Amino acid sequence: MKKDFILNEINTIKGVGLQLSKYLKKKRIEKIKDIILHLPYSETDRSKIVKLNQLVVGKIQSIKVLVKKLNFPRIRNLPNKITCVDDNGKIDIVYFNSREGYLRKLFPLNKWVIISGKVNFFNKKYQITNPDYVTTLDNEQYVVRNIPKYNLTKGINEKKYRSISEEVINNIPLISDWLETDFINKNNLIGWNDSIKKLHSSNDAKDNNSKSFRRIVFDELLANFLTLSENRKRIKKNKIPKNFNNIYSKTIIHNLPFELTKSQRIVLEQINSDLLSNKRMFRIVQGDVGSGKTIVSLLAIINVIKSGHQCALMSPTEILAKQHYELSKKIFKKNNIKIDFLTGKTEYKKRKEILNNLSNGRIKLIIGTHAIFQKKISFSKLGLVVIDEQHKFGVKQRSDLAKKGGENCDVLLMSATPIPRTMMMSLYGDMDISKITEKPSKRKRIITLSKPEKKMEELWPYIQKQILLENQIFWVCPLIEESSFLDYSSAKKKFELIKKKFGNKVGLIHGALTKEKKQEILKGFLEKKISILVSTTVIEVGIDFPNANLIIIENANKFGLAQLHQLRGRVGRGDRQGTCILLFKDGLTKNAIKRIKILKSSDDGFFIAEEDLKLRGFGDLIGYQQSGIKNFKFADPLHHEDLFRLAENYVKNINSQIDLKKYSFLLKLFDKADIINLE
Ligand code: ADP
Ligand code: MG
Repeated sequence: MKKDFILNEINTIKGVGLQLSKYLKKKRIEKIKDIILHLPYSETDRSKIVKLNQLVVGKIQSIKVLVKKLNFPRIRNLPNKITCVDDNGKIDIVYFNSREGYLRKLFPLNKWVIISGKVNFFNKKYQITNPDYVTTLDNEQYVVRNIPKYNLTKGINEKKYRSISEEVINNIPLISDWLETDFINKNNLIGWNDSIKKLHSSNDAKDNNSKSFRRIVFDELLANFLTLSENRKRIKKNKIPKNFNNIYSKTIIHNLPFELTKSQRIVLEQINSDLLSNKRMFRIVQGDVGSGKTIVSLLAIINVIKSGHQCALMSPTEILAKQHYELSKKIFKKNNIKIDFLTGKTEYKKRKEILNNLSNGRIKLIIGTHAIFQKKISFSKLGLVVIDEQHKFGVKQRSDLAKKGGENCDVLLMSATPIPRTMMMSLYGDMDISKITEKPSKRKRIITLSKPEKKMEELWPYIQKQILLENQIFWVCPLIEESSFLDYSSAKKKFELIKKKFGNKVGLIHGALTKEKKQEILKGFLEKKISILVSTTVIEVGIDFPNANLIIIENANKFGLAQLHQLRGRVGRGDRQGTCILLFKDGLTKNAIKRIKILKSSDDGFFIAEEDLKLRGFGDLIGYQQSGIKNFKFADPLHHEDLFRLAENYVKNINSQIDLKKYSFLLKLFDKADIINLE
């Protein structure tokens, strides 16, 4: 096989035709490399020949038998039957839908054969129906053994997949390892070729501490970190430093109705020093919900505008963009700068005018949705791009964005998704990181209560009181992931019930609604036309509903801690006290009780994210699904913390002289080559 064989399509393998390719595609197996990375999840034990008087019904077993009689009834629906014996007993091998000629070849009369399959008992006789393997004695070694078990889809059986997988694994040429032998030994790893062989032929894949599994985890992390590091190098190039005077931002700060927190000030300084430097800024500001990221970004924006550049601020949704737009008009009232608002819905005429004013440089700040980065748009002198709530941005999108901005454009991302420490590097290894660690001190801490669902009745008078006080309420129904229909119907039911109790000012929002409809409902809530908003977890992050002060979350143990924390962050953003009520079904596990305690006792999103990780494990971090963490196939920050650190240090150590060629096989194996346009 040639060096790039791993990128070959699977239909280049002998015996893989169109139909089979289709089935494999369903399992996301499209290229040779996908077969290498598709590890068995277990083994089938066919390793012992069992005598016919020692068979265990229901188990997969291997037998060595003499073919005694073949029976091909000519009546429809009756199966073909082959009777076999050994010294100790008798068994029927039964075939539905099999051709006579084929079976006669497979079962030569009065010859010994090896058969392996699931044993059952029918009509007082042992029987194996459609056995997995039937073979001659000289092939015993191939069948009577432990055989790796792969997660497969309909249309591919074990035997077929095994032949494909073996064809690939047994023919992998010796790869010159990108890791030094010393490094491999010292860190309890194993060479690449050996690790792949072992993962596919033993139980190593099941043991995430085995040397071979650790090796593939390390490789996955290494590929990831190398990509990030390369991305960083390509983005953090020289630029013309921004040149500005701080008095404008100082005046704005002076006129704010509050004082900046120390964290906000530190982060602002970090951003300013990036702006002033001759390297492009590529920074992410992480701060819990309500920590005050927006104002920090606006202060950076005014500096960049005063340095003679344009700025763009992008939000994931229109309603959030609109809030930023209104806020910035207010904040920059005295600065006499032209600000405009652009979304996919902006009318043709207005849009044309905006496009015009962006290219002639009259607009200094454009705020909007992703519409502000359409191909047609050209800026006169774009100096800074700010992306709010960016957790839906992967490395590729970040790198595209940086390209679009041009070489003098600084990039600032803001995220409220707290990421556990171990995962920081794998997500943001290409960026500089700023953290807003404290919340505005005047903000009252949200009161978090828990209640069994069966006492829900007790809530009605409380809710009534809140409505009288003109407090708005979120009612969050559990998201039923498997079924958007069930999801909708449970939210709908709750909506009907609450509507009956509290009349017309009840709204419903759920995932099946169109984007426009959702925005319309959220707008209604923002304008207080709705008092209680029943929803699945589609409540947008980032939007300020200053008047929402109570959030009720049903079946709260279905949510991750970090997610609950994000949800409760929707309330108490104005002057009044925010309250979060977690409803639970009966019989909480110890773990669930622990989780409530953590939420009640802490207000720190980062701490909560760490605890969430510990309690629920990595696979369950729902809130992070879109953040890219899930891109790991093998690495688990809980089990492989040491490897995360090892890979991080490895990349740091070679950073200045990374020879990407040396890792090109690795990068291709893990689908990274495209991201950094590796040749
Ligand atoms: P987030 O970090 O979640 O984006 P925002 O920037 O929307 O938070 O800020 C939430 C609210 O807190 C806003 O109403 C904002 O005006 C207010 N705020 C920001 N900074 C401070 C501060 N230092 N003191 C008091 N309130 C603040
Ligand atoms: Mg925000």
